[in-house]
Amino acid sequence: VEVYCANPKCGAPLPQYEENCLVCGRSGGAPNVRNAGLKEERDALQARVGKARKLALARRCASELANFEAYVGMSQAVIVRPLAVLDSFVHSDNQLLLTFHQAVRAKGRLPDKNEWDPRRETVDSAINPYIFDRIHFAALSGDGKGVSSFGGYHVTLKESAVELRTTVFEENGFPFLDRHHNRVPPGYRAAWPERGLLAVAKLHSKLSAGISTSVFPDILLDQGTTHGDSDFIEVHIYGLLHRRAIERVEGAKPVRKEDKFIWRKIRRSLEGIGVEVMET
Ligand SMILES: [Zn+2]
Repeated sequence: VEVYCANPKCGAPLPQYEENCLVCGRSGGAPNVRNAGLKEERDALQARVGKARKLALARRCASELANFEAYVGMSQAVIVRPLAVLDSFVHSDNQLLLTFHQAVRAKGRLPDKNEWDPRRETVDSAINPYIFDRIHFAALSGDGKGVSSFGGYHVTLKESAVELRTTVFEENGFPFLDRHHNRVPPGYRAAWPERGLLAVAKLHSKLSAGISTSVFPDILLDQGTTHGDSDFIEVHIYGLLHRRAIERVEGAKPVRKEDKFIWRKIRRSLEGIGVEVMET
């Protein structure tokens, strides 16, 4: 399926992973969003959703599934970072949050010697070829809480900052690729406005007749027990991330004296630009 440049004077085919038209320079929008909108992706997702709805009907929880879909339709993108990273991100309007790959390439950080970082480039490029270094990762959340094991501070992004350039993906890429023999079949991603459909396809079996809506946040984002077994819908935000994209920050008041000082500084910066800060 070919996608074409929207400039009426141009109309050249847009390469799949380029943001701008190579002929006239007009922006074609975020490539991840374009790719999630391709017919084979949408058809495969619709087939999964159809199956999910049928199964829910058989289990007498069709209305619960519909409620859950509506709930996820209002969910937000939440990034989690440790205090020090949040501090450098929010302290001025000239600061941008780097993706992992940008930071490693700029020699701003080294990969960790953990089980993830050595495989990160392979995993990320399988899911978003060529553009993976420009993708910021978040988790889909219904209650302002992201994946706790990534750090202590939960940053909710504004709807307006993500809606045009964001896609959602079934789960963390590492377990996904393990499960799918290192391939990425169609039907496991969706554009931001269709995140409710992806959640229905993935999570329908967690719902039951009469289930309370109070458990929806934990169904959508399961914190798990130790690092690595949390389960969530991964959010892929294409492009730059600026502190004015933040709607809300939630985190615990630090215990150590020097951390308390940093946290006070962060709060001042955030409140100065109208961001809601919640201490837990
Ligand atoms: Zn063009």
